[in-house]
Amino acid sequence: MNNVYQESKDFAATYILPYTEMIDQESKFPEEAFKELGNKGFLKLLVPEEFGGHGKGLVEHAEAVLAFAESCSTTALCYMMHNVALMCIVTHGSEELKRKIFSDVVENGKFLALAYSEFGTGTHFYNPEIQAQFNGDYTKFNGTKSMVTSATYASYYLVLAPSVEEGKINNWVFPLETEGLSFEMSNWNGLGMRGNSSCPMHIENVALEASYRIGEEGSGQEQVFNVVAPFFITGLGSVYSGTALHMFDVASNYSVDRKYPDGSSLSNIETVQVHIGTIYKNAAAARALTLDAATAGANGDADALAKILAARIVASEAAIECGKLAMRVGGGKAYNKALPTERLLRDAYAGQIMAPSADVLNVWLGKALTGQMIP
Ligand SMILES: Cc1cc2nc3c(=O)[nH]c(=O)nc-3n(C[C@H](O)[C@H](O)[C@H](O)COP(=O)(O)OP(=O)(O)OC[C@H]3O[C@@H](n4cnc5c(N)ncnc54)[C@H](O)[C@@H]3O)c2cc1C
Repeated sequence: MNNVYQESKDFAATYILPYTEMIDQESKFPEEAFKELGNKGFLKLLVPEEFGGHGKGLVEHAEAVLAFAESCSTTALCYMMHNVALMCIVTHGSEELKRKIFSDVVENGKFLALAYSEFGTGTHFYNPEIQAQFNGDYTKFNGTKSMVTSATYASYYLVLAPSVEEGKINNWVFPLETEGLSFEMSNWNGLGMRGNSSCPMHIENVALEASYRIGEEGSGQEQVFNVVAPFFITGLGSVYSGTALHMFDVASNYSVDRKYPDGSSLSNIETVQVHIGTIYKNAAAARALTLDAATAGANGDADALAKILAARIVASEAAIECGKLAMRVGGGKAYNKALPTERLLRDAYAGQIMAPSADVLNVWLGKALTGQMIP
């Protein structure tokens, strides 16, 4: 893959866009798109070349997710989480775990998901409270994860759990077929991102060997900070920048196509021109910040963290603001759902509450910029 953004745009036009409306209307996971993501090699974007993957990193992750989100926010979000989970294994997995999971991704088109959030700790997902008891050769788990995107469709779920070392956590891989794992599928009724299948995962006496732990005992925090945070937060920047760009496309095309009886267009009205310009400015700024943040993260720049946090905050706010303006431009047709604008706005609302929420990130940004500790 040489031009990941363009190849992802082309892929999305053929294999994602045709299903976007249906997965929202039927609240259906984008299975067809995921099958093709496997067939066309996008699921292995981050798998190292020696394991048969493309060996790409943060910049290409951001580009692929951005391009997919310009066609479907839900598919982009599910794909983004797969990449984040995969990257934990790339950076911290044992050789045995890498061989097992990467071959399933590369050869069988399997994908991964993140089962991190809990009902209790909510947006502070890095403080897991499920029980993990070390029993000889096994660790036994009990508890519930609250919102697991791609539930039952993904083959592997990354689970954060307390470590035997006081105050530390571990990042585990739970295979889908593990005994004691069940999903409450009927629970998902999201305002937007309706194809996500983000439902609770119940963990009842699940017993796993240490080989399913990613990295050293107690290394979960370090993985959350150095891998999950950059890939997840930048990825969310891409999801919501792409959603905002999609809104621009819909609103600007509609404003040109909508004709009045005298033959003039909606786009001939100055106020509408200003709205279209504002949507474009917000969407383009979010995209630019996100791609710049991804480059800074990939290069290990000193200000990478601040850029990544800022990009994700700006992108999720931009998507909501672009959506509100696009609804105005779309008038009665947008309100009556003849345009996809209302779906895009519903999708955009997930941006401000997905963990770590925009409110939490605003605090973290201030801390990062003033040299203070971030949890
Ligand atoms: C579409 C979608 C998909 C998801 N997919 C997944 C997934 O795949 N895996 C997963 O693990 N989770 C997932 N989640 C869960 C999500 O990321 C959050 O963890 C969850 O929504 C938090 O829920 P809560 O209401 O309990 O948050 P709460 O902790 O109750 O927070 C509610 C609000 O309070 C405010 N707040 C809380 N604490 C602070 C603070 N310290 N400072 C400032 N403000 C604060 C924020 O405004 C926050 O939005 C998903 C959520 C959505 C919407």
